[in-house]
Amino acid sequence: MITKAKKSLGQNFLIDKNILKKISQISILDNSTELIEIGPGTGNLSDYLIKKNPKKIFLIEKDENLSKYLKNKFFGKIKVINKDILKFFDYEIFNKNTIIMGNLPYNISSQILVKFILDNNFKYKALIFMFQKEMADRILAKVNSKNYGRLSILSNWKFDIKKLFDIKPSSFKPKPKVESSLLFFREKNYKYKLNNPKNLEMITRVLFNQRRKKIRKSINKIFKKNSQIIDELNLNLDLRPQNLDIKTYCNLASKYESNKIS
Ligand code: SAH
Repeated sequence: MITKAKKSLGQNFLIDKNILKKISQISILDNSTELIEIGPGTGNLSDYLIKKNPKKIFLIEKDENLSKYLKNKFFGKIKVINKDILKFFDYEIFNKNTIIMGNLPYNISSQILVKFILDNNFKYKALIFMFQKEMADRILAKVNSKNYGRLSILSNWKFDIKKLFDIKPSSFKPKPKVESSLLFFREKNYKYKLNNPKNLEMITRVLFNQRRKKIRKSINKIFKKNSQIIDELNLNLDLRPQNLDIKTYCNLASKYESNKIS
């Protein structure tokens, strides 16, 4: 290896050739694809992705040493961008043919996903992201289940999501403690229309900060105790946050938007 893996950057490199091959064989990847890989590391996955002859590949890697290494390794073939994805706003490299992929740094994987959920300026065809399995389970969780929360609501508001497969710790170096899951996200054709999805994010944050409590207090806080608005919501305030489905959360966000409560 060219550098020692940095824990602070969530570096767990995929080394299992069967898994790398399996990821590159996902059928959506073909020669019309414009690929953006987040956190390519030493380029193990990139090597396999190149074989699918994508139209373009961009790699976004925060680690300066790895970026230099990748620039040498893929000289002339691939554009390497040495930036932090959380601070990345060059929208023009994204378009409707873009597929964004990444074995994400696990310490910031949910932040990366939320960035793509909330910022409408990024255009793409699909996201294919690897998460720790427990994070993937939270993303996929259904209403009334223990894992259901902010991430399930935001993700499923925007995307149709499919789990592609799980990956064992032994497929990585250094070996993580837990299993991983590869998820596929495609934006819904018809999603609940919100002026600003950040309002949905705020509502889910306020409610799930009191995960085990009845929603009454949080609803009063969000709607500034305006009893007329709260009545119009027609909600059972004795429910708990995990009992409200995604449509109900969207209704709350929409009500908040239409009454300009902020
Ligand atoms: N895709 C590679 C490496 C995955 S490890 C493989 O499968 O082998 C996660 C990678 O994300 C590391 O290379 C790490 O340096 C990079 N990374 C960490 N934080 C990042 C950030 N904020 N923006 C871009 N890349 C980041």
